[in-house]
Amino acid sequence: MDALKDEVELLLKNDNLGRTIKDVRNTLDLLINARNKVAADPQAAPMGLAKLQTPAKQTLDSVHESLKKINGRANKYSKALDKKFKDKPLPGTENDALSSHPSLINRAIAMHLLREGQFSVASTFIEEAKAHPPHPEPTAGTPNPYLQEAHDNEVANGAFDSKKLQEDFAEMYHILHELRENRNLEPAIIWARDRSDLLESRGSNLEFELCRLHFVCLFVGQDEYGYPTDSTEGPMRAWEYARREFVPFSRRYAREVQQLMGALAYYENVADSPYRMYFFNDSAWEEVATSFTREFCSLLGLSADSPLYIAVTAGAIALPALLKMQNLMSLTRAEWTTQHELAVEIPLPPSFHFHSIFVCPVAKEQCTDQNPPMMMPCGHVVCKETLDKLSKGSKFKCPYCPGESLPKEAKKVFL
Ligand SMILES: [Zn+2]
Repeated sequence: MDALKDEVELLLKNDNLGRTIKDVRNTLDLLINARNKVAADPQAAPMGLAKLQTPAKQTLDSVHESLKKINGRANKYSKALDKKFKDKPLPGTENDALSSHPSLINRAIAMHLLREGQFSVASTFIEEAKAHPPHPEPTAGTPNPYLQEAHDNEVANGAFDSKKLQEDFAEMYHILHELRENRNLEPAIIWARDRSDLLESRGSNLEFELCRLHFVCLFVGQDEYGYPTDSTEGPMRAWEYARREFVPFSRRYAREVQQLMGALAYYENVADSPYRMYFFNDSAWEEVATSFTREFCSLLGLSADSPLYIAVTAGAIALPALLKMQNLMSLTRAEWTTQHELAVEIPLPPSFHFHSIFVCPVAKEQCTDQNPPMMMPCGHVVCKETLDKLSKGSKFKCPYCPGESLPKEAKKVFL
């Protein structure tokens, strides 16, 4: 890997394309000038062209020279790449789960582009997907593509509401831009305040985190609009802000509010106080931005990270192990028979761990698509088979609490 890094550095060092572009521009200027002169006075054409020859050749030579260098480096880089990543066979098509649901893949790509803020690319993509609807191919081990659920074809039939999503994400990016680039908390605070109840019911601390950061900004000497101002008045301004805005937080965040108020006593040397972590936290802005993104996406019913990004990254991490396994299996002529389960463990980073497995506490078995987890009105969850056994179609008692319910009242749980 180090050899590759060295090559990239050399490539960057040799990047004199700026000079090459300048040379090309000079050549063009020369030619345009000459053309104008000839147009104005055709008699002078032979003379003008003769004069043009040497300078035109010089600039073109210089272009060639600089391109030669960078081409040479690019070649070396591509050789280093080939050396590092030797030709390895890609996984065979026998485990292809994607061809049977191209519309779902299109939807995932469109969603990814939208949530990355690539609105124009997303709309072109959706237009093209509509114009050329993909044809699903049945593949082994995946559900029949011709029995698709409605959302499968959303992109193709136009039901995919990209405009609404685009508006939502445009708002998200506007607020994030204000937070990150302008250190302006106001749009985020307004957004969170409008959804105060929803956020609270989710157990989110976003609104308080934003207001606390605003308090800190005022304390260290910014005015209400985030501009630097007389810092000696900061603590006073922060105190006024807290008195005005912290009332709704006083119960849920009593301890945190007390600490902020306690910090006021150290207004002269807050850096040496026990509260310094609130006032000298370089990552505070990034933390609220991340927290805001997470809450914004979850209110839209989406995860904070793009599922496509997660799937592709996890796939790239898993690929070497899977290829190795495939090789071993073909050597030993073994067969991989367990559906929907990997034969080897793939270590993924902690951020890629999802609790997508539910084991029924009664049947002590892992739930599957055919036997999904079901939640009863009391909030307890068992698998569908257990639910059917317990209820036999009529009113039954929850195995974990005195709650009674009808089987039709249970809701399917999606993990
Ligand atoms: Zn219960």
